[in-house]
Amino acid sequence: NLTQRLSRVVKTMRGEARLTESNTQQMLREVRMALLEADVALPVVRDFIARVKERALGQEVVGSLNPGQALVGVVHKELTALMGGDLGAEASELSLAAQPPAVILMAGLQGAGKTTTTGKLAKWLSDGHHTQGGRKTGKKKVLVVSADVYRPAAIDQLKAVAAQVKVDFLPSDPSQTPEDIARGALDHARRHFYDVLIVDTAGRLGIDEAMMREIRSLYDLLNPVETLFVVDAMQGQDAVNVAKAFADALPLTGVVMTKLDGDARGGAALSVRHVTGKPLKFVGVSEKMDGLEPFHPERMAQRVLGMGDIVSLVEQAQRNIDIAEAEKFAKKIKSGDKFDLNDFRDQLQQVKKMGDMGSLLQKLPAQFAAAAGQLQSGQAEKQLRRTEGILNSMTPQERAKPELLKASRKRRIAAGAGVPVQEVNRLLNQYQQMAGMMKQMKKGGMAKMMRAMGG
Ligand code: GDP
Ligand code: MG
Repeated sequence: NLTQRLSRVVKTMRGEARLTESNTQQMLREVRMALLEADVALPVVRDFIARVKERALGQEVVGSLNPGQALVGVVHKELTALMGGDLGAEASELSLAAQPPAVILMAGLQGAGKTTTTGKLAKWLSDGHHTQGGRKTGKKKVLVVSADVYRPAAIDQLKAVAAQVKVDFLPSDPSQTPEDIARGALDHARRHFYDVLIVDTAGRLGIDEAMMREIRSLYDLLNPVETLFVVDAMQGQDAVNVAKAFADALPLTGVVMTKLDGDARGGAALSVRHVTGKPLKFVGVSEKMDGLEPFHPERMAQRVLGMGDIVSLVEQAQRNIDIAEAEKFAKKIKSGDKFDLNDFRDQLQQVKKMGDMGSLLQKLPAQFAAAAGQLQSGQAEKQLRRTEGILNSMTPQERAKPELLKASRKRRIAAGAGVPVQEVNRLLNQYQQMAGMMKQMKKGGMAKMMRAMGG
């Protein structure tokens, strides 16, 4: 999978200070493949890679990041931005601030999920989940109507859906034109003081002129505040053409992507967003009426690249944790190798490097984390530096064989570090404690040890 592939590339990219054409090439190739596998349309992939390249090249690799991690950071950021992350959270809100009834027009191919989404939205609004500027605006009085006169079953389907979500349904007469139905519904909604009118429409299996003309005339007549393009996530590459046709015919205000509960990688979201320039507002995550969620650009970005693990890896690295070191150390503990003062010092250096104790503790095996936590608690950075000073005053041999440390050596070390001998002793005690725990762990006395630590 992509995470594994990228991890491999990331490892080969160690030790370079800048992102360059050559050190990003292989990585970008993997990203490109991943996007294509996720069904993002080729032109969109090309644009995206070009954009990432432009942002990345020449960028300095900061802190303990290696170039691979830095590039993943750029990719993730750009992908999230392209998904609409730079529009802010409110981009996914419906804008219903209109003279009531606020009309929502549903557009899309047949089978995309318009009728289902009409029901879900009606429920969402009448349950009071609608927000404006992040604030809930209360329960809405919602009316739904079907302008799908070509399939009588379509009208019945909406009726059933409306009953299920306990929202008012206005019956429509299939002998009327869609325009007449829309006019009648608008009038009815006005007279009965509905907050919102959702108009479900017919779809065709493919894009055709007549259907586009029809939905355009519904648009002109209804003057909707929201014109939502409903698209099936499984649509893949085709989504681009469909989205383009709808965006050309109608001033869309947003996109709803359905069937994300399937195994679609969500690449269509990127394509549709790219082509329409409109925000994705909701995603459908089940056929049930509560299967509707506001769109989260970041989640979608991670889904498309399947890179959740990598991203958190980068985030951690950005907090200046050297993952490789931490893992090496964790492995050492697990393997039950001897834990000497050199290891102790390495560990302290790590603790110092990271600003945030909590996250390293999570990275370490629980047992060790508890011990490290003890070591840390109530100790200021100053103390950490002193401890390190003591360790640095030892010879590597002394650190490898702490049992060498008799009184005269301790005095020499204390003098070298500029601390009283008691501090050297205290450090050795801490070390003994930890080494003891390591041994216990090796013997499998974990339960006993956890008890001893009050865990
Ligand atoms: P329409 O022709 O655009 O009105 O599409 P429908 O609303 O009739 O949906 C077509 C099919 O897709 C139906 O079987 C729905 O149950 C199903 N469907 C719609 N949205 C979702 C979704 O988010 N997840 C799943 N699993 N199925 C969905
Ligand atoms: Mg329908």
